[in-house]
Order: sequence, then C-alpha cells, then structure tokens
Amino acid sequence: MYQGLIKRYREWLPVTEQTPVISLFEGSTPLLPMPRLAAAISPHIALYAKFEGMNPTGSFKDRGMTLAVSHACQEGRTVLMCASTGNTSASAAAYAARAGMQCVVLIPGGKIALGKLSQAIVHGAKVLAIEGNFDEALRLVREICAEFPIALVNSVNPMRLQGQKTVAFEVVDDLGDAPDYHAMPVGNAGNITAAWMGYSEYHAAGKSASMPVMLGFQAAGAAPLVHGKPVLQPETVATAIRIGNPASWQGAVRAKEESGGLIDCVTDAEILEAYAMLPALEGVFAEPACAAPVAGLKKLAAQGFFNKPCSVVVTLTGHGLKDPDTAMQSAASPLVAVAASRDAVLQAMGFCA
Ligand SMILES: *Cc1c(COP(=O)(O)O)cnc(C)c1O
Repeated sequence: MYQGLIKRYREWLPVTEQTPVISLFEGSTPLLPMPRLAAAISPHIALYAKFEGMNPTGSFKDRGMTLAVSHACQEGRTVLMCASTGNTSASAAAYAARAGMQCVVLIPGGKIALGKLSQAIVHGAKVLAIEGNFDEALRLVREICAEFPIALVNSVNPMRLQGQKTVAFEVVDDLGDAPDYHAMPVGNAGNITAAWMGYSEYHAAGKSASMPVMLGFQAAGAAPLVHGKPVLQPETVATAIRIGNPASWQGAVRAKEESGGLIDCVTDAEILEAYAMLPALEGVFAEPACAAPVAGLKKLAAQGFFNKPCSVVVTLTGHGLKDPDTAMQSAASPLVAVAASRDAVLQAMGFCA
C-alpha cells in the first residue's frame, strides 16, 4: 500500500529512524496527458499536468508539510505557526491535527479563498486574519517563532523544500526522464526552488539523462521577480500567488539561471481565460494560480517560443474546489432556472419541438 512520500523517497530526504512520520499519504499525484489543452496552445508540445490538487488537502503544500511537521514532532514542538495565502494554512492545520499539535495561522484579511479557510477551521487551527498582506503576515510569524518555541512551517523552513522537491522525482519516475520544460506558478518561490533542487539531485545521481528548462509565471500585479524589486501592494485574482516579496527569491533566480529558463508574468485576464480552458478542455479543475503557467505557455507559444517537438510539464498546484467564488464569478454558463416540467426542461435544453 502506498504510504506517502517520506516512505517512497526516504533515502533522498533528511529523515532518520527516529523521525516520527506524520503523513496523510500525500504525493504520487497523477501526471495527466493534456492533449486538448496542448492543441490549443501549440502544435509542438506534448503537455502533461502534474495535478497537485490531488494531494490530501488539495495542494502541493502537503509535500513540504509532511516533512516539516514530522521534524517539528521529532524536536518536541507542540505548536505550529505559519503565514498563508490559504493553502499552507489548510495543510498545516490538517497535519497538526494528525500529529495532535496546535496550529496558528496568520492570513491576509479578506483575501483568502473560501475552501482554504474552511479547511483551516475544520481542522481546528486558530485562524488570525491580520490587517495586512501575506508579506506582513510572514514577517510577524518569523518574529514570533524566533522568540517562542513554535515550529515555523512556511517554506522558509528548509524541510518544506525538501519535501516539495519530490515532485520532480515523481515526474522523472513517470516519464522516464526529465521533460524539456517545466512550467509552474511562482508566489513565495519556494516551490520552483524545490522542484529545481529535485531535478538537480536526481540528475546528479544519474536518475535522469537531462534536466528541464524551468518556466516560472507570476501574476502581473504581483510580479516582483519579473520587475527585479518587491511589490508593496500585490494584487491578483490568483490569491495563492499574491505575494510581493518572495522569501525564496534567490532560489527562484538560481532555478531560472541554472536551467536557462525564465520568469515571466501574465495578466489576470489571461489567468482567467486559462482557468476556464483547463476544466472545459480536459476535465481538470485547478485553482486560479495554476492557470498562470498555462496562460504563460500560451503567451510563449504566441511569441514562437516552441518551434520544435518538446515535452512540457505544468504543475497544477491546487484544486479548483478551493476557490468556488472565483469559479462561479467566471462561469461561462450561469444557472438556468426552469419549471419542474418535461416541456420546460426540453425547451431549456434546446430540444423543443
Ligand atoms: C503556495 C501556492 C503557490 C505558490 O507557491 P510558492 O512556493 O509560494 O511559489 C502556487 N499555487 C498554489 C495553489 C499554492 O498553494
């Protein structure tokens, strides 16, 4: 039986026999071929989606959280704390419950998707909505965790990145080699740092013949890595990447430079267009942040970036059900109210005689 990524990739991770494994059997997510979406983007790409929304709490954060919480447990911590745009809090709250620990989360007031908030609440976390953005929340959490014996489980905790690097192992294990390109959304930049670490380690150990070119995408209103300076008031519909001063800035730059890749941005309009294409063309429902790299691939293809056959993996970082408000607001076909009669239903279907 599959028992989570620490079991699967134990020899690649900083764990010992003494580390208690706190797991919800995360990882080993599907790598789905996306032929219809690929055709809409470029004739040259074989596109695969690494659907991280299939993790236990619905985002890739679980990969890092299993390791971070296992370590916190080993160190005898009883309280976890994080700043979150939503998914980190959902994941931290679930793993804290699993470990019998307390969890405190700081979220930017009014800017967190409903599904994510409900997760933190049902798992019993103390949820504090601050009058400020994610960057301010993270600054506060770092300050408090430096002063008290509380485990900080944001991606500034190196264990988070160690767990998250396993996504690259899984892609290589599934494809038999690294893809030509790996596209993903970039917020606090921990995930692109971790994915590149995973590809690098696997390659160095001879597990893959090649390494991918990393393609990171930010939202235009929250694109510090594209502009080369922090954004004080980040804004985007993709709340998971509404971050103005990424903690793993250097890691993202390294992933870009060492892989010969790029970090670009896409507008909210482009994000919402790609957000609608994914579920309509492929039956895969991912949250708005995941649409950033899809829109990014579309933008690159329009510039002639892909001019010969190549393989592309896009990380779909979180599940679409996390943000039902955005789904309903951007729905192409709104609800149609009909009378409870055969004729009314047939007429609404366009089947009327
Ligand atoms: C956290 C998150 C991101 C951003 O990842 P970083 O490591 O902060 O760059 C993107 N998408 C989703 C769904 C997330 O939860």
